[in-house]
Amino acid sequence: MKRLDEYFKSARKIVILGHVRPDGDCVGSCLALYHYIRTCCPDVDPEIYLGETAEDLMRILPGAERIRHELPEETDCDLCMALDVSEESRLGEFLPLFRSAAHTVCIDHHVTNPGFAEENMVDPKAAATAELLYTLMEESRISRETAVCLYTGMVHDTGVFKHSNTTRRTMEAAGALLEKGVRSNEIIDGTFFHKSFVQNKLLGKALMNAELEFGGELICSVLRLSEIEEQNGTSLDLEGIVDQLRVTDGTRCAAFVHETEPGIYRVSLRGGRDLDVSRIAAAFGGGGHVKAAGCTIEGDSESVKGKLCSAVFEELCRNSQE
Ligand code: 5GP
Ligand code: MN
Repeated sequence: MKRLDEYFKSARKIVILGHVRPDGDCVGSCLALYHYIRTCCPDVDPEIYLGETAEDLMRILPGAERIRHELPEETDCDLCMALDVSEESRLGEFLPLFRSAAHTVCIDHHVTNPGFAEENMVDPKAAATAELLYTLMEESRISRETAVCLYTGMVHDTGVFKHSNTTRRTMEAAGALLEKGVRSNEIIDGTFFHKSFVQNKLLGKALMNAELEFGGELICSVLRLSEIEEQNGTSLDLEGIVDQLRVTDGTRCAAFVHETEPGIYRVSLRGGRDLDVSRIAAAFGGGGHVKAAGCTIEGDSESVKGKLCSAVFEELCRNSQE
């Protein structure tokens, strides 16, 4: 693998991109790379383009104010770096920036990544893109700002170092980042556990809507757009709900479904024990990891839930037979 700075040392205009509906790992990785490039090449000022981002992340992550949310008129650049992006279509509205770049690099940890960039650094064993990014960086050039962003990415994709993707390498990277001056409790409480009143109300609503299916093996909750709007919430207020569903006793699969636009439903899936939820998401054109995946399904709430439940049932049966 090439050293990270070899990619950007000859580029003048660099663009950093992540995936649609960016999560903590995506935003943390993009901003970490931004700070790292600034340290290595102070005369280059990379541009970062991402969709709307959770307020907590914007508050804690240094440099978040530099994130642009709109596609610029001029889309060409010397180098476009895509982080935490498992497939080209996940670049969403910023795809033209990637397409018109002279060179492209993708740094990611999704097992389903087909290697869509010119150069691809994909390591499915990394718990987070931020963890992989850390291993590609030269330790002495990691500033406190870079460290805060990397640490946040790792906290989010490991569920605060508790998911099964967490390894010795994850913990060693996190340990090294702490020594750079990261205040771990501020990041964990401030971006992972912190909830606004609206977010808590929506969590409550989602838990009340939850139903057990297939003898309790699946827990599924659907929030309609009207229910989200009634609480003055948006899609950005629903992070973490699926993880609360997931801990329900006896379940092997958790599904949280919410309507983003009339008739369009986003699905978040979590698998317990040996269930591979990325297969369920892939059946609807989505993807992700074995234990955490997502997809979009169109229809009314009943038909969406029906389609999803059948796909989950198939996977539960397949998995029980093995
Ligand atoms: P979440 O449920 O937290 O939104 O997503 C869980 C995981 O699945 C993340 O790693 C995310 O990258 C992936 N994921 C979510 N939605 C999609 C999708 O529509 N397509 C693909 N390829 N991956 C997704
Ligand atoms: Mn990630």
